[in-house]
Amino acid sequence: MPTLMLVGAHPDDIAIFWGGAAARHADEGWTVVGVTVDNGAGSPHSFEMDKESLVARRAEELAWEAMRLGYRREHFALPGVKTSATRAEAVRRLTALFAADAPQRVITHHLEEHHATHAIVAKLVLRALVDAHAGGAAMPELWLGDGWEPVHYPDLRFDVTAYMNVKMAAIAMHGSQIYDTPYLMGAWGLNLYRAGFASSHEVTDPKMVFAEAYQRVEPEDVAELAAAQDPEP
Ligand SMILES: [Zn+2]
Repeated sequence: MPTLMLVGAHPDDIAIFWGGAAARHADEGWTVVGVTVDNGAGSPHSFEMDKESLVARRAEELAWEAMRLGYRREHFALPGVKTSATRAEAVRRLTALFAADAPQRVITHHLEEHHATHAIVAKLVLRALVDAHAGGAAMPELWLGDGWEPVHYPDLRFDVTAYMNVKMAAIAMHGSQIYDTPYLMGAWGLNLYRAGFASSHEVTDPKMVFAEAYQRVEPEDVAELAAAQDPEP
């Protein structure tokens, strides 16, 4: 059974951005592993909650999300990735997971995102893929997905119409985040847009109402992409 591994920076990223892909792969028999790097303590919010309670709350929300989307959860819960030490720890743990689970496909943030933590996590994923490959693991294909800024030139439109009910429920598990930010609305609208406009030269399947869009990197191109990135993001 093939394995898909999704690597999100924060506890709500997998559901919001790639929840349809997670649910569809799981439904189609893939083993799905969801990795979350950051503990989510830094999220701005309008309610009263100390950092420790927020971190615990977000870990619980992530557990509900993973159950809803049907994936195995690997929550690193690091206090950010702003230091060399936390970045090295993230790469070490990602490399170990890539080696142990040998995913055929990996989904993470795209590299041009302005959200610094998202872009850094994408670079750490690249580094870990190269490290795991050097240790003997097969290189998977990489899908770089939408985020706060959508992928500019996606080459893959992934039909998630049948999984929007599950995706919306998974996002709704993140009560501490949708409390003051309308992620449900944003994801709904973006996925509608992606079904209509992701690939201008592609004939649209009229049954495809919702889609997620990705930039696909072939396994043989991952090392070159990784080498082009700043080694210390
Ligand atoms: Zn995030």
